[in-house]
Amino acid sequence: MTEELITRLRSEVAGPVLTPGDEGYAEELSGFNLAVTHTPDVVVGLTSEDDAVAVVRAAAETGTPVRVLATGHGIPNPMQGGIVVTTTRMTGVSVDAEAQVAHIAAGSRWAEVVAAAAPHGLAPVTGASDVVGCIGYTLGGGLGPLARTYGFSSDWARSFRIVTGSGELLTASTTENPDLFWALRGGKGGFGIVTAMDFGLVELGTLYGGSVFFDAEHIAAVFGTWAGWTKTLPEAANSSVVILRLPPLEFIPEPLRGKTVLSVRFAYVGDAVQGQRLFRPIREAGTALIDAVGEMPAGDIALIHNDPKDPTPSWDRGMLLDELDAEFVTTFLDVVGPEQQVPLIAVEIRHLGGATERDVPEGSAVGGRSGACTLTMIGVPDPNLFEKVLPATVDGVLAKLGPWVCTETSVNFAGGFALPGSYEASWPAETFARLTDIRAAYDPDRLFPFGPRQENSGS
Ligand SMILES: Cc1cc2nc3c(=O)[nH]c(=O)nc-3n(C[C@H](O)[C@H](O)[C@H](O)COP(=O)(O)OP(=O)(O)OC[C@H]3O[C@@H](n4cnc5c(N)ncnc54)[C@H](O)[C@@H]3O)c2cc1C
Repeated sequence: MTEELITRLRSEVAGPVLTPGDEGYAEELSGFNLAVTHTPDVVVGLTSEDDAVAVVRAAAETGTPVRVLATGHGIPNPMQGGIVVTTTRMTGVSVDAEAQVAHIAAGSRWAEVVAAAAPHGLAPVTGASDVVGCIGYTLGGGLGPLARTYGFSSDWARSFRIVTGSGELLTASTTENPDLFWALRGGKGGFGIVTAMDFGLVELGTLYGGSVFFDAEHIAAVFGTWAGWTKTLPEAANSSVVILRLPPLEFIPEPLRGKTVLSVRFAYVGDAVQGQRLFRPIREAGTALIDAVGEMPAGDIALIHNDPKDPTPSWDRGMLLDELDAEFVTTFLDVVGPEQQVPLIAVEIRHLGGATERDVPEGSAVGGRSGACTLTMIGVPDPNLFEKVLPATVDGVLAKLGPWVCTETSVNFAGGFALPGSYEASWPAETFARLTDIRAAYDPDRLFPFGPRQENSGS
């Protein structure tokens, strides 16, 4: 990268422009996954849409690739060379309660939106964790704890502001640049820098939900019950199940510390008495170590999964499943059940269907509507295991579970596109082809790399 380009960025951008060796360079590039160190030629901290336009225009003139870093929850491999822009300074959420829409700036996390919406009796359709970034999450579709009831989060996007690869600042909505809007609702990357998003909110004050934990001896019975029970649930009832191998550390609540446990998570949109009735078969399937399911404010939704908030080394791989039948239950327990020694801290299945199967009337690019469930395997957070041990472990599990794995996946769950073909498999073939055409139209010089080989390399 030329000195000339860096000098130009420093004169045209209000935010910091940092190169390797500059104070603050490493901090600007740090994110959720501590196992990843990014080394671009320059990192630019965006403060406004004008900054984003200036960076893209300067990059376009020199053919320099540009990548976007928000919270770092979704970039599993180092970004090397080129320009990285960070969005952490572009925060702020405002709510139009009458229109039931939140205006969300590029760097905002879900917790901000939840807090801004709650006083109006409204809620965003979020993911499990409220510290994930709203834009990166929604660009990948987004499947959260209320997905069966309300669908993919991208179904709730109303418009995006974006600086495209051509350096233009555009609005994408059903009425303006509708092809780009279609692509941004689930097409993930390779279009430009999104500077803001308008996002529809649902009327939701309380839920009947939470999580219940069972000791190893109850896992087979509760998991078998859960798999059958999901087939009886209405769309208003959402649930997931996870086998956790928890370390013997102080911060883990005492009844769970050092144990292999199964947690069933539940989120029912409706009356608490009915929610309690629906959840009864799970409570009756085993004796709980902790039962934290009850009426809760919708604003506490992140407590259902209780995902880690602090940065940590992280490795995961995910996919979708076609169905959960009795043979799947037996095979699943044979490969990752409590008797097995596997270096996986969490193996999670989320029940989909309902609203996740239905596209929005105007259509959207999101992949994964055909999946019945998600399956995610999260490795022990030891980077020494990331290169060989965890991929081999997951390959071994999939050798047995392969017959139930869906051909389509969801890009937010693909775990860093680690498998050949898994990026493309995040969309049906005709959707992938249309996304390629739309990228060519809005980023003709391929300034914004995307996909398995190009996502993380500056060359
Ligand atoms: C603990 C945890 C919990 C999660 N829970 C869920 C869940 O419940 N449901 C679900 O669907 N996913 C979930 N995810 C996956 C998550 O949604 C994706 O990893 C998502 O990409 C994170 O976006 P981010 O902006 O926070 O992260 P980043 O790593 O900063 O960004 C990821 C990608 O998003 C794109 N991006 C971000 N901001 C912009 C922007 N302004 N303009 C253009 N592109 C942008 C870029 O391509 C970037 O490479 C979870 C991940 C973790 C680690």
